[in-house]
Amino acid sequence: MGTDITVLGVQGYFLVSFWKPILLMIPFVGWAWVISAYYDKHAARFFLPRQMWNVIHLTAGLLAVVVGLIAIPIAGEGAFWAGLGAMIVIMAIDLAAYAYVANKDERVPEEFHIRLDMERIRAAREAKSVAKKQGKVELVLKGPDKSAVPVPNADTPEFALRVAAESLVLKALEMRATQIDMAPGSKDGGYIVAYLVDGVRQAGAPLAPADAVKVIDFWKSVGKLDVTDRRRRQSADVTIERGTDKHKFRVVASGATGGMRMTGLIDPEKQVKRKAAELGLLESQMAEIKALVEERQGVVLLAAPPDMGRTTTLYTILKMHDAYTSNVQTVEMEPQDSLEGVRQNFFESKAEGGEYSTLVRTILRRDPQVVGIADLPDEQTAKEVARAEVDRCRVYLSIKGDNALAAIQVWTKAVGDPEVAAKVLHGVTAQRLVRKLCINCRQAYQPAPDMLKKLGLPADKIKQLFKKGGQVLIKNKPEVCPVCNGIGYIGQEGIFEVYTLGVPERSLVKAGNLSGLRAEFRKKNQPTIQQVALRKAVEGITSVEEVLRVTSEGSGGAPGGERKAPPAPAPVGSA
Ligand SMILES: [Zn+2]
Repeated sequence: MGTDITVLGVQGYFLVSFWKPILLMIPFVGWAWVISAYYDKHAARFFLPRQMWNVIHLTAGLLAVVVGLIAIPIAGEGAFWAGLGAMIVIMAIDLAAYAYVANKDERVPEEFHIRLDMERIRAAREAKSVAKKQGKVELVLKGPDKSAVPVPNADTPEFALRVAAESLVLKALEMRATQIDMAPGSKDGGYIVAYLVDGVRQAGAPLAPADAVKVIDFWKSVGKLDVTDRRRRQSADVTIERGTDKHKFRVVASGATGGMRMTGLIDPEKQVKRKAAELGLLESQMAEIKALVEERQGVVLLAAPPDMGRTTTLYTILKMHDAYTSNVQTVEMEPQDSLEGVRQNFFESKAEGGEYSTLVRTILRRDPQVVGIADLPDEQTAKEVARAEVDRCRVYLSIKGDNALAAIQVWTKAVGDPEVAAKVLHGVTAQRLVRKLCINCRQAYQPAPDMLKKLGLPADKIKQLFKKGGQVLIKNKPEVCPVCNGIGYIGQEGIFEVYTLGVPERSLVKAGNLSGLRAEFRKKNQPTIQQVALRKAVEGITSVEEVLRVTSEGSGGAPGGERKAPPAPAPVGSA
């Protein structure tokens, strides 16, 4: 009997073994197909821990197969079906576990969630593509009266316009732009859109004239400006909210040749806020500034080309004076930011018989201790400053000029009398702004000795410099740097010249001896703008290209303007 059973058993095993394993194969192949054709790609696409999941799948698969195979030799059909069932359950748990974890992961967008219901997946994808075509409203826009602009119904032209108007601002925020410009001028008759990022214009996608005019009108209406008046210059401050982020957006619109022009300023007063330590002054320069602040008498010129940080420097130096123990005042054309404790006087050009110089004279006669004058619109203003009793008062005069010597020339000429101009002059600063390299993507390189020689840098000491990158490698594939949006630079820093003037320097100004003055400044061991700029390039803060862009003669920081050949800079020395 025992023998028979054995034979029967073996026979039975062979009899069933042909279809039983095949039956086991069917769910296994299906499971394996889902893993390799769908799950693994899904994990790779959304950067989920792919290796870990492959180990889990492999373990689950092996376990399932082992459970299925173990059940085969056990006598009785029930054992086999139980084994098959257990195998399917194990594989189903594995599939469900991945789906559950992946669907919870925020890297996986909703429409790519794993679902059994294919109809829902398709519906979700369709909805997404429709939304993408139509755009969506992401911002809360508030007019000058703080009331929110209602969002129009989707599928209306107003909705599409709102999306287009928002997209300009969203792009600007993404690029960290401080200004958006829109004006006619594209070759095909369209409107040029440009974003000002760290003082340099970056081109945006141009707009068709009809669309651009609608967008400008939209922003004017948000600012409660007169939309029908397309010529006059109008401006308004509106508020833009994106989640918890809040921005002031100053809309400035006016007529332009062939259409309208709009400038949008993002958080304008933030641009002039800087701590003294963040200006970019060298330690020795900071010491000179502090000494000048202590002195509290005479005139100090603060020079820079337009848009090169003059107002920021004026404000920062004024803040170094104690506005609570001394009388600090300003004279300004337009308010840029409010200064705590400082009395700010704004010039109103429309006022009857008003001249800027008259306002300056009025303020200086009030016996202030510190006055910051933000503009030098005419010679009369300089004459009023030179005539004031500056032995009891410090006057900072913000002036357009490429460097310290040029600023002194402008000042002397405006005053009209070198003796008067020299007598009151105690100091001069000049500055420009360089963009800082993005540390995330800057590229080190070995500079050619020729280039270093041309720049006046010691070739034997400088082994590497940095240049802008703009791209980073992600999984060995170059992608736009997410930190600087591919620009290669992020943020700006001042490069300064700071000189104090004593008796010998003043007599040279009086004599109009500029080369003598230059030699005197050199003796003080205070670096020039170009020397400071190159030092920052050597330190990897900025690039040689950026130094040349900013310091080239007459560049004036003209964004995107033609670059003239840079003048040969003086040697930096062994510093
Ligand atoms: Zn970068």
